[in-house]
Amino acid sequence: MSELEARFSTEEACREYLFQLRWPEGFVCPRCGPQRCWPLGAARIECAGCGYQASVTAGTIFQDTHKPLTMWFRAVWWVTAQKTGASALGMQRVLGLGSYQTAWTWLHKLRRAMVRPGRDRLSGRVEVDETYIGGAEPGTAGRGAVQKALVVVAAQEDGKGIGRIRMRRVPDASGPSLLGFIDDVVEPGSLIHTDGWETYKVLPERGYRHEISKLKGKPEQAWDLLPRVHLVVSHLKRWLLGTHQGAVSPAHLDYYLDEFTFRFNRRTSASRGKLFYRLLQHAVAADPAPYSGMVKHVRGRPPKRNR
Ligand SMILES: [Zn+2]
Repeated sequence: MSELEARFSTEEACREYLFQLRWPEGFVCPRCGPQRCWPLGAARIECAGCGYQASVTAGTIFQDTHKPLTMWFRAVWWVTAQKTGASALGMQRVLGLGSYQTAWTWLHKLRRAMVRPGRDRLSGRVEVDETYIGGAEPGTAGRGAVQKALVVVAAQEDGKGIGRIRMRRVPDASGPSLLGFIDDVVEPGSLIHTDGWETYKVLPERGYRHEISKLKGKPEQAWDLLPRVHLVVSHLKRWLLGTHQGAVSPAHLDYYLDEFTFRFNRRTSASRGKLFYRLLQHAVAADPAPYSGMVKHVRGRPPKRNR
């Protein structure tokens, strides 16, 4: 933390770092492409070609922030330092933010940056299966009203272990939901390993090789058929219970899935510095996430603290 504060003690140092991350090959004008640029006051730059005035934070999650970038950098550092998961309350305390709502908004902006659009797709051999998150445990009758979310998970095989993963909340187990996910996250030509669910049978028509493992006995054996995906799911459920006391509203589940995926895919990066760099790199590539858009599913209000 002290190393971070020494290196990024000024707004200028933070902006310069973001500039390097956003335009590693040099400034790219949103209007006329690669160009030289001039500084314009402290926070803005002007395109030498067309006069367009840009800033390094415009179009990123830092757009329109009223707080200093030095504080944002501390927030990113703190989030990447949390081994299990970050809570809004924790962030509020560490940064000394006056409002819980601000901490909650920041955390969700950073979660959104954890999954970058256009990242590499999985390839090779990939296990795919769906699971329910939340709601009643199997066997508890009469709890149909409890909200459950269907999540589809893809886990790349890495020898006997697990490579990278992807996951997404889907409305149902239909073709558009499951196959759309696979198209987005798995490279064509890969071998996809699933159970015998009907929807997956058209995978060969979509450019994938397909291996089906069918249950021969009890449903409990599903665990052994697709061991990687089920290991990921059990980690995910434990993480949601441990970090968020299981109190994850379906409207925000997407963010938690992104955070879990980000951490899981980097579980072996020993260096915190690398995570910090990666998250800031995503943050300047991500679309801005205005607060209003973030909470539209929950009637304009961040969730209450769960305690
Ligand atoms: Zn220009």
